[in-house]
Amino acid sequence: MNRPAAQARIEHLRQTLRRHNHLYYVEARPEISDREYDDLYRELLGLETRFPALVTPDSPTRRVGGKPLRQFRHVTHAVPMLSLEKAYHRDAPKQGPQRSQVDLRRFDARILKALPAETIDYVLEPKVDGASITLLYEDGALVLAATRGDGETGDDVTLNVRTIRGIPLRLLTPDPPSRIEVRGEIYMDIRGFTRLNDQLRAAGEDPFPNPRNAAAGSLKQLDPRVVAQRPLCGVFYGVGIVEGIAFATHAQVLETLKALGLSTPRFWWICRNMDEVVRRTAEIYEHEKELPFEIDGVVIKVNNMRLWEQLGTTATHPGYAIAYKPRERAKEAVTLLRGITVQVGRTGVLTPVAELEPVFLEGAQISRATLHNADDIRRKDIRVGDTVVIERAGKVIPAVIRPIPEKRPPDTRPFDFAGHIGNRCPECGGPIARDEGFAAWRCNNLQCPAQKTRRIEHFAGRGALDIEGLGGVVADALVERALALEPLDLFDLRVEQLAELNLGAAEDTRVLGRKNAEKIVAAIERARNLPLGRWLHALAIPNVGEAIAFQIAAVHSDLDAVACSPVLRDIVELHEKREQARIVNPRSTANQPKSESERLARQRQYKALTAGTENLKRRLAGYSLPEVGPVVAKSLLDFFASIQGQRILARLRKLGITTQGRPSQTGGPAAAAAPLAGMTFVLTGTLAGMTRGQATEEIRRRGGQVAGSVSRKTNYVVAGIEPGSKLDKARELGVPVLDEPRFRSLLGG
Ligand code: AMP
Ligand code: ZN
Repeated sequence: MNRPAAQARIEHLRQTLRRHNHLYYVEARPEISDREYDDLYRELLGLETRFPALVTPDSPTRRVGGKPLRQFRHVTHAVPMLSLEKAYHRDAPKQGPQRSQVDLRRFDARILKALPAETIDYVLEPKVDGASITLLYEDGALVLAATRGDGETGDDVTLNVRTIRGIPLRLLTPDPPSRIEVRGEIYMDIRGFTRLNDQLRAAGEDPFPNPRNAAAGSLKQLDPRVVAQRPLCGVFYGVGIVEGIAFATHAQVLETLKALGLSTPRFWWICRNMDEVVRRTAEIYEHEKELPFEIDGVVIKVNNMRLWEQLGTTATHPGYAIAYKPRERAKEAVTLLRGITVQVGRTGVLTPVAELEPVFLEGAQISRATLHNADDIRRKDIRVGDTVVIERAGKVIPAVIRPIPEKRPPDTRPFDFAGHIGNRCPECGGPIARDEGFAAWRCNNLQCPAQKTRRIEHFAGRGALDIEGLGGVVADALVERALALEPLDLFDLRVEQLAELNLGAAEDTRVLGRKNAEKIVAAIERARNLPLGRWLHALAIPNVGEAIAFQIAAVHSDLDAVACSPVLRDIVELHEKREQARIVNPRSTANQPKSESERLARQRQYKALTAGTENLKRRLAGYSLPEVGPVVAKSLLDFFASIQGQRILARLRKLGITTQGRPSQTGGPAAAAAPLAGMTFVLTGTLAGMTRGQATEEIRRRGGQVAGSVSRKTNYVVAGIEPGSKLDKARELGVPVLDEPRFRSLLGG
């Protein structure tokens, strides 16, 4: 393609993408599939890569760009961004119901008095509870976005706002005004907000208290790439400077902004008088749930903009508008914290939940609230038995904000998270741990029924079945949409299902796409034939780590053989016999026989037991199972004997998966097949007990490969003394690192 042809195609692609972006984000009625959109996007990106001179900043491919800023530049607003006069609802029963609108009536009276000759229409619209923003479009291109700041000067947050996909980089019109400043709010919708907080909590970071904070906090991020991950939206309802366009009414502003491709409030009305305003206000609240943002009351504006100047402005608010809160937002309530329960999330994160004495807040009865995490409880010193303040910001789940120490009964103790649950997972009784640097405790048992996501993630992970592309995010989306609740469900997934999987939020969709889906399905298919060791590891049986899995695999033909393994039974039996022998040993100092006859009986038992143990030892001598002790052996046998284990075996049979261990049952116990088949190692540093050549040879003999450099495909880096940069690389990519002893145990002792 030559340059003029490319130019034409690029222009066409950009326009098409802009239109579909608008249909998707602003109008919420997409006309093409995500895949078709992706294809167009990729074509544009490809052309722009070939013809870099044709790249323009308003191209849909240029949303996220630029390095993190050190600080924001200040911007002076040519038209100040004012605050609004407020009319409150007042609960004053003595003065009757009319009293609640007294401020509104007073506003109306003032307008009518100032403009006696005019008929006054009002526009009623929701007061969006977000972070104020002003956007400047010059010749249709977004050139500046700034926060309100103190109303006179704000921060230049252009790079951040460009990442918000619902905000057009170019206005949707062939003949845009030469300049137009549009004003509105940046907000985070409830679903996006809840999801973001879940992510923050899982990462051990502090969640945001409410969506407005989350939106404002996200806008203030210095790194646009972080902002791009935040589910932000914009809604617009006003203008600042305008050139090359004029507006007679506020309704016209709302209609024009919409026509230019900007999101405007879904509900707004022109009202003939204040009575109608009051009626419609009630109507907005009926529709509250349908609005994607939280509302902080309504705003009433004189529709005829030519009258605005005559109505003047004070230092802080314009005379033509008023904000009205028909009911006060019940922000807080006080109640008793009766107990704290702990819930186990899909990823194993343990979340404390407050069990409250039921209380009314925002018209709903509340008996449970979130308590972020253990650190947060300690920091605020919230105790069971405390009287606490709870908050519910709009539609969001209520949270415990703080205790009231003056009301604390004498017998409370500071909250000890791990102690509270007896150091065990409340779901499965498994061990719990706290990752370094993270605020959250986790259940460490991958078999924990609650931990669906983690189980799948582990199953697909490196060293297990190595299903590339199926990481934590995909696993979580699969679990959330119930497409895969257990690892083996992956084998039923179809490309179409995966391709449409949304990894983002409901409004901020980010689908996996067909290509990735095909890759994942192919990797799942490949996993069918991976060797037994990998499968044993993938099943996440308690106490069975990777090295042990490979040792077991080396002496069994397949999973069914492990499930009823005589070798494993021998190991358990050997241990039991030894224990019994220790107890009956007549020479035991701790437990001396009390009579001669008891001594003789015990002598006989002891002899029989030691003969038994000798026999077992002989039987086990041919097997190289250096790390497989009675605990591991029992754990394996128990797992496969359990209902869950039986189900897995049956399902594998149905799926036709035969996990191959050593080549044949007759091939001598220690005749290991290829326990490291399909695995790639990288060696760095000097090993004490073998040369690199020998190490390479040992890996190859077991079916593994040795590579020269570390990549995401590397399964292990073996680090000896004085390791080089490969070790850093491994850490950076999260590739597991083995020291020499662990490497040797992986090789099988
Ligand atoms: P306040 O800061 O509470 O005095 O309210 C004024 C702010 O409300 C403005 O700066 C806007 O950011 C915000 N606001 C939200 N919705 C609207 C709306 N529909 N019209 C005007 N301002 C609004
Ligand atoms: Zn658990």
